Amino acid sequence: MSRKRLEEYFENYQFSANSLIRKDGDRLWIPDLFCHNGHSLKVEKVTFDNLPGFNILCRVGGEGGPEEDIYLSPIINDSRKKGAEQPEGTRLQLTCPVCKEELKQLVPCTCRVGAYRRAVYLTPDPDEMGAVGICEIYGCPQSFVTEEGELLYEVVVEGSRE
Ligand SMILES: [Zn+2]
Ligand SMILES: [Zn+2]
Repeated sequence: MSRKRLEEYFENYQFSANSLIRKDGDRLWIPDLFCHNGHSLKVEKVTFDNLPGFNILCRVGGEGGPEEDIYLSPIINDSRKKGAEQPEGTRLQLTCPVCKEELKQLVPCTCRVGAYRRAVYLTPDPDEMGAVGICEIYGCPQSFVTEEGELLYEVVVEGSRE
Protein backbone atom coordinates (compact mmCIF):
# COMPACT_ATOMS: atom_id res chain seq x y z
CA MET A 1 0.00 0.00 0.00
CA SER A 2 1.56 3.28 -1.06
CA ARG A 3 1.41 6.33 1.18
CA LYS A 4 0.47 9.77 0.08
CA ARG A 5 1.71 13.02 1.47
CA LEU A 6 1.05 16.70 1.00
CA GLU A 7 3.98 18.82 -0.15
CA GLU A 8 3.67 22.54 0.55
CA TYR A 9 5.82 24.91 -1.43
CA PHE A 10 4.45 28.33 -0.64
CA GLU A 11 4.73 29.12 3.04
CA ASN A 12 3.97 32.82 2.73
CA TYR A 13 0.55 32.49 1.12
CA GLN A 14 -1.80 35.26 2.24
CA PHE A 15 -4.93 33.45 3.38
CA SER A 16 -8.00 35.67 3.75
CA ALA A 17 -11.78 35.56 3.49
CA ASN A 18 -11.33 36.28 -0.23
CA SER A 19 -8.23 34.26 -1.11
CA LEU A 20 -8.55 31.62 -3.81
CA ILE A 21 -7.37 29.05 -1.29
CA ARG A 22 -8.80 29.24 2.22
CA LYS A 23 -7.57 27.96 5.53
CA ASP A 24 -9.39 27.27 8.79
CA GLY A 25 -7.22 25.62 11.38
CA ASP A 26 -5.35 22.84 9.60
CA ARG A 27 -7.95 22.60 6.86
CA LEU A 28 -7.01 23.98 3.44
CA TRP A 29 -9.85 24.23 0.96
CA ILE A 30 -10.86 25.75 -2.35
CA PRO A 31 -14.09 27.78 -2.43
CA ASP A 32 -14.75 27.49 -6.17
CA LEU A 33 -13.37 25.85 -9.30
CA PHE A 34 -14.11 26.54 -12.96
CA CYS A 35 -13.74 24.81 -16.31
CA HIS A 36 -11.66 26.44 -19.09
CA ASN A 37 -14.86 28.16 -20.28
CA GLY A 38 -15.50 29.74 -16.87
CA HIS A 39 -18.34 27.49 -15.67
CA SER A 40 -18.41 26.97 -11.92
CA LEU A 41 -18.19 23.33 -10.86
CA LYS A 42 -19.40 24.08 -7.33
CA VAL A 43 -22.50 22.27 -6.11
CA GLU A 44 -24.29 23.10 -2.87
CA LYS A 45 -26.20 19.79 -2.77
CA VAL A 46 -23.09 17.63 -2.24
CA THR A 47 -20.94 18.66 0.71
CA PHE A 48 -17.80 17.49 2.46
CA ASP A 49 -17.56 18.58 6.11
CA ASN A 50 -20.20 21.24 5.31
CA LEU A 51 -18.23 22.67 2.38
CA PRO A 52 -19.69 22.49 -1.16
CA GLY A 53 -18.12 19.90 -3.45
CA PHE A 54 -17.22 20.07 -7.12
CA ASN A 55 -19.06 18.23 -9.88
CA ILE A 56 -17.10 16.61 -12.70
CA LEU A 57 -19.01 14.82 -15.43
CA CYS A 58 -17.05 11.69 -16.29
CA ARG A 59 -17.22 9.33 -19.20
CA VAL A 60 -16.29 5.98 -17.74
CA GLY A 61 -13.56 4.19 -19.66
CA GLY A 62 -12.80 7.27 -21.78
CA GLU A 63 -14.39 9.05 -24.71
CA GLY A 64 -17.79 7.65 -25.66
CA GLY A 65 -18.20 5.82 -22.35
CA PRO A 66 -21.29 6.10 -20.10
CA GLU A 67 -21.70 9.48 -18.35
CA GLU A 68 -21.53 9.56 -14.57
CA ASP A 69 -21.40 12.44 -12.09
CA ILE A 70 -18.54 12.41 -9.62
CA TYR A 71 -18.17 14.94 -6.82
CA LEU A 72 -14.76 15.92 -5.48
CA SER A 73 -14.00 17.29 -2.04
CA PRO A 74 -12.95 20.98 -1.94
CA ILE A 75 -10.46 20.15 0.81
CA ILE A 76 -6.84 19.87 -0.30
CA ASN A 77 -5.40 16.37 0.24
CA ASP A 78 -8.87 14.90 0.83
CA SER A 79 -9.39 12.06 -1.63
CA ARG A 80 -13.03 11.43 -0.68
CA LYS A 81 -15.42 11.32 -3.62
CA LYS A 82 -19.18 11.09 -3.89
CA GLY A 83 -21.42 10.10 -6.77
CA ALA A 84 -20.87 7.10 -9.01
CA GLU A 85 -18.26 4.81 -7.47
CA GLN A 86 -15.82 3.21 -9.86
CA PRO A 87 -13.22 0.49 -9.42
CA GLU A 88 -9.83 1.97 -8.50
CA GLY A 89 -7.77 2.51 -11.62
CA THR A 90 -10.72 3.14 -13.96
CA ARG A 91 -9.82 5.60 -16.70
CA LEU A 92 -12.22 8.54 -16.89
CA GLN A 93 -12.69 11.23 -19.46
CA LEU A 94 -13.16 14.31 -17.24
CA THR A 95 -15.60 16.90 -18.59
CA CYS A 96 -17.39 20.04 -17.44
CA PRO A 97 -21.02 19.28 -16.46
CA VAL A 98 -22.18 22.58 -18.07
CA CYS A 99 -20.42 22.78 -21.47
CA LYS A 100 -19.60 19.04 -21.59
CA GLU A 101 -16.13 19.84 -22.94
CA GLU A 102 -13.21 17.68 -21.90
CA LEU A 103 -10.95 19.32 -19.32
CA LYS A 104 -7.58 20.38 -20.73
CA GLN A 105 -4.56 18.13 -20.45
CA LEU A 106 -1.93 19.56 -18.10
CA VAL A 107 0.95 17.22 -17.26
CA PRO A 108 1.41 13.46 -17.21
CA CYS A 109 0.62 11.58 -14.00
CA THR A 110 3.04 8.95 -12.73
CA CYS A 111 0.28 6.51 -11.71
CA ARG A 112 -0.23 4.97 -15.16
CA VAL A 113 1.52 5.12 -18.50
CA GLY A 114 -0.42 7.59 -20.63
CA ALA A 115 -2.40 9.10 -17.74
CA TYR A 116 -2.70 12.87 -17.52
CA ARG A 117 -3.70 15.38 -14.93
CA ARG A 118 -6.49 17.61 -16.20
CA ALA A 119 -7.00 21.29 -15.47
CA VAL A 120 -9.66 23.11 -13.52
CA TYR A 121 -9.15 26.73 -12.53
CA LEU A 122 -9.33 28.84 -9.39
CA THR A 123 -10.95 31.73 -11.30
CA PRO A 124 -13.32 31.87 -14.30
CA ASP A 125 -10.43 33.10 -16.47
CA PRO A 126 -7.92 30.29 -17.15
CA ASP A 127 -5.31 32.89 -18.15
CA GLU A 128 -5.02 34.00 -14.55
CA MET A 129 -2.81 30.96 -14.02
CA GLY A 130 -4.49 29.50 -10.96
CA ALA A 131 -5.02 25.85 -11.75
CA VAL A 132 -5.73 22.58 -10.01
CA GLY A 133 -4.50 19.41 -11.70
CA ILE A 134 -6.59 16.30 -11.13
CA CYS A 135 -5.77 12.84 -12.44
CA GLU A 136 -8.08 11.14 -14.92
CA ILE A 137 -7.54 7.76 -13.23
CA TYR A 138 -10.23 7.06 -10.59
CA GLY A 139 -8.68 6.66 -7.15
CA CYS A 140 -5.38 8.35 -8.00
CA PRO A 141 -4.83 11.02 -5.33
CA GLN A 142 -2.00 12.80 -7.13
CA SER A 143 -3.17 16.36 -7.57
CA PHE A 144 -1.66 19.81 -7.33
CA VAL A 145 -2.62 23.46 -6.94
CA THR A 146 -0.91 26.42 -8.59
CA GLU A 147 -1.55 30.11 -8.30
CA GLU A 148 0.09 32.74 -10.54
CA GLY A 149 2.18 29.98 -12.05
CA GLU A 150 3.68 28.90 -8.70
CA LEU A 151 3.19 25.39 -7.40
CA LEU A 152 1.51 25.75 -3.98
CA TYR A 153 0.53 22.24 -2.97
CA GLU A 154 1.04 18.83 -4.40
CA VAL A 155 -0.25 15.48 -3.22
CA VAL A 156 2.29 12.81 -4.10
CA VAL A 157 2.24 9.07 -3.65
CA GLU A 158 5.49 7.81 -2.20
CA GLY A 159 7.32 5.37 -4.39
CA SER A 160 5.83 6.63 -7.64
CA ARG A 161 8.31 7.66 -10.29
CA GLU A 162 8.61 11.32 -11.24
ZN1 LIG B 1 -17.71 24.31 -18.96
ZN1 LIG C 1 -2.72 9.59 -11.49
